[in-house]
Amino acid sequence: MIGHEYRCDICGEDNDNPTRWIVIRCDSSQLTIYKWTKEAADAPGARHYCGEAHAQVYVSRWLEAACS
Ligand SMILES: [Zn+2]
Repeated sequence: MIGHEYRCDICGEDNDNPTRWIVIRCDSSQLTIYKWTKEAADAPGARHYCGEAHAQVYVSRWLEAACS
């Protein structure tokens, strides 16, 4: 996996070693936030965010969708 890049789901920023990024996994009833680990980042369905602000954007969208 040398050179594998992750991309922020909100802003599209690329980073091949995003140690301070955030990982989110969710389905329609549950959302889980992980601090960055390679295991969490590479898990099926994991979404990647460049920081707290962009993770929060997704959490807000998810909550709105889940409640509508
Ligand atoms: Zn971002």
